[in-house]
Amino acid sequence: MAADTVLDLLARGADSAPAIGAPEHKPLTFARLRELAARTMADLNAMGIGRDDRVAIVLPNGPEMAAAFVVVASCATTAPLNPAYRADEFEFYLTDLKAKALLVQQGEDTPARAVARKLGVPLVEVVPDRGKGAGFFMLKPEKPMAGKPAKSGKAGPDDIALVLHTSGTTSRPKIVPLAQRNVCASARHITQTLSLTPSDACLNIMPLFHIHGLIAAVLSSLAAGGSVVCTPGFNALRFFAWLDEVKPSWYTAVPTMHQTILARAERNTEIIARAKLRLIRSSSASLPPQVMTELEKVFGAPVIESYGMTEAAHQMASNPLPPRARKPGSVGIAAGPEVAIMDQEGNILPKGALGEIVIKGPNVTAGYEANPAANASAFSNGWFRTGDQGTMDEEGYLRITGRLKELINRGGEKVSPLEVDETIMDHPAVAQVVTFAMPHDKLGEEVAAAIVLREGQSATEREIRDFAAKKLADFKVPRKVVFLAEIPKGATGKLQRIGLAEKLGLGA
Ligand code: AMP
Repeated sequence: MAADTVLDLLARGADSAPAIGAPEHKPLTFARLRELAARTMADLNAMGIGRDDRVAIVLPNGPEMAAAFVVVASCATTAPLNPAYRADEFEFYLTDLKAKALLVQQGEDTPARAVARKLGVPLVEVVPDRGKGAGFFMLKPEKPMAGKPAKSGKAGPDDIALVLHTSGTTSRPKIVPLAQRNVCASARHITQTLSLTPSDACLNIMPLFHIHGLIAAVLSSLAAGGSVVCTPGFNALRFFAWLDEVKPSWYTAVPTMHQTILARAERNTEIIARAKLRLIRSSSASLPPQVMTELEKVFGAPVIESYGMTEAAHQMASNPLPPRARKPGSVGIAAGPEVAIMDQEGNILPKGALGEIVIKGPNVTAGYEANPAANASAFSNGWFRTGDQGTMDEEGYLRITGRLKELINRGGEKVSPLEVDETIMDHPAVAQVVTFAMPHDKLGEEVAAAIVLREGQSATEREIRDFAAKKLADFKVPRKVVFLAEIPKGATGKLQRIGLAEKLGLGA
């Protein structure tokens, strides 16, 4: 029987087998991980937190974050947040989530603490206990917490395991609820695509507040009874030392990370010769075919490009492992959900036609939270519209050709241009602002903003960037700011973000 709760997924690994690791630390075994899940369930329930209650998590990347995700998801709803957020961003997310508690790491200073106190969200410290294995921890509430949850014990298949925000067509990000059965289906799909087994070990360099790392690296490894070794996050200078120490069988990353790794490969040929990589996975942004070819040559392992999305609990399509063909420039074949191409009217199009990529399957969210308008436009005849444009060839390989949604994909990090607009509009000298994607050789896209100043006012690029950086995490701050007398309009007189870079001479 397929496991459709996170706790059931954790039941698969052998007691003494490693589940979660970290460089230079003793791994946490599956027995210990299950002990941690049981203890966390009892502790959270005693604090009045139970099934479908939301626990926001702001932890540094690493084994505690991976462990907290799976054990809290076993009995409540996890809401991991990017630790790089500014106070204003935390305030929005914690309020929007109606979080019942916020988990932070002992000794870690984060603006999220002050925000939680201001909002009256109880703070619970995660106290690492690496002696029991990487990722083991105790929970310590800042103030005594007691209560009785509405629903206690183990989460059921339809309970929400994970909520993440996704950049929307408004400046307010939308909440994507993912049920236990959604995340378990996605983990199972990835396990099958990559033929993961208990002998696999994934080196995690992805952030663990994003769907890619949470599901592809952590949950699918554990679902296979294999292990995930959690680094503090991608670091080009340390990557090869980790590779040498951990000897992972695979890793998954965004294209920019692969490019940075390749740039340092020549200096690390001995480590590469000793490496035991069975495969390398790439997702979240388009992988240039040259990078794929080069990676395969350098590491002597197949590079599997996959197509993922938060609303799909990550994987939708993937290139298959050999002996089946990998097609450079394609994101592969349907790998879990059904995948099709749809026209604007909601008709499924024949092979070869260009249209919107749509999906349907057990990994797909039931819909955005409290957002009927977004759901009405996102779902057509039972299919979820990805907002990506593409074609499918005769063999079922999908190619992404463009994007219908307003979003900037900065090397896999998604930025809502509207959120940036709204922040910059608060600057007193700004009359009008349009944030847009500017082509970038490594990241694919970079954030840029075109601004019209108020009459008689002045501001420099630096001032605007500093102003934005007070409210927005670094990756959202425009790298380029241009001042214009007027913002160019499209043929219909509408402001158009898409194509603006080219119009302004900032194209590739
Ligand atoms: P996220 O929800 O952050 O995972 O972002 C999902 C979006 O990332 C998709 O809708 C695509 O626009 C983009 N994306 C994911 N994987 C790929 C890929 N392999 N190639 C191109 N774009 C991708």
